[in-house]
Amino acid sequence: MSEPSRYAVFGHPIGHSLSPQIHQAFAQQFGIALGYRAIDAAPAAFAGAVRDFFADGGHGANVTLPHKAAAFALADRRSEAAQRAGTANVLTRLPDGRLAAHNTDGTGMVRDLTERHRVDLRGHTALLLGAGGAARGVAWNLLDAGVETLTIVNRSPAAADALADAIGEPARAHTRYWEDLADIGSYDLIVNATSAGVLGSALDLPFALAGARALCYDLSYGAAAAGFLAWAKAAGARYAFDGLGMLVETAADAFELWHGHRPDTEPVYRTLRERY
Ligand code: NDP
Repeated sequence: MSEPSRYAVFGHPIGHSLSPQIHQAFAQQFGIALGYRAIDAAPAAFAGAVRDFFADGGHGANVTLPHKAAAFALADRRSEAAQRAGTANVLTRLPDGRLAAHNTDGTGMVRDLTERHRVDLRGHTALLLGAGGAARGVAWNLLDAGVETLTIVNRSPAAADALADAIGEPARAHTRYWEDLADIGSYDLIVNATSAGVLGSALDLPFALAGARALCYDLSYGAAAAGFLAWAKAAGARYAFDGLGMLVETAADAFELWHGHRPDTEPVYRTLRERY
């Protein structure tokens, strides 16, 4: 008899999620027989589906679009990373039955950059495109990793201002207008944390943003990242990375939280890289 699914990923849609495959690959490294499934829940059904899952013996859940803010809201306890982001991508059942929310986006992205791609972020001038959940998830970690300045630019300026205000370090983190992108100079690190690629829109960024030593990073991967990575290459950026490594690293953080083992992410990343 197979193990009941004590782990799951919630999203809508969820059919293309790589999380079940990543968690199974991690579990195999430790000989763990893992029950992990993908649960498609429309927004109105999300809270009920989560409650049912944990009431039926669920131990941990990954949460992806569009439920990260709802996951944060329904939790009883929230990690500092989740509080800073205002969203959660991990829900864990505590021994007393309450739910804890955590956000691993920032640690996952910075580890992908610093350990997999061996980038020392200290002293970089960074441009963060977007101010949604993922941008909020990575902003503090980029600052913690030592970027010198963080310029936040969002299509809707209010969200960028809210993020800069929440960071509260005006000398390091500030905003500019999307309309002024052509006039704000060049950056060492350009992070695309918009969902434009996923939504099938082009960003139309000026080449002047990418200096000769620029590192460009798109949080999305596969076809969704293709436009930004092509722009980075055409702009003469030194490096252009997608978010596949971040996805694997964020999953590793959740896996360690639930199972107490740190998986080796590299073979899992390499297997996925052959396909994306
Ligand atoms: P949200 O919906 O919370 O935010 C979307 C952001 O994209 C907003 O800032 C929005 O601006 C901006 N945006 C959308 N369309 C456009 C456009 N055409 N032009 C300019 N800006 C646009 O999404 P998330 O923050 O959760 O996710 C963002 C991306 O990050 C997604 O592609 C997601 O797949 C990826 N991601 C990858 C992860 C990984 O592990 N690799 C983890 C988490 C996210 P506005 O406020 O004006 O609407």
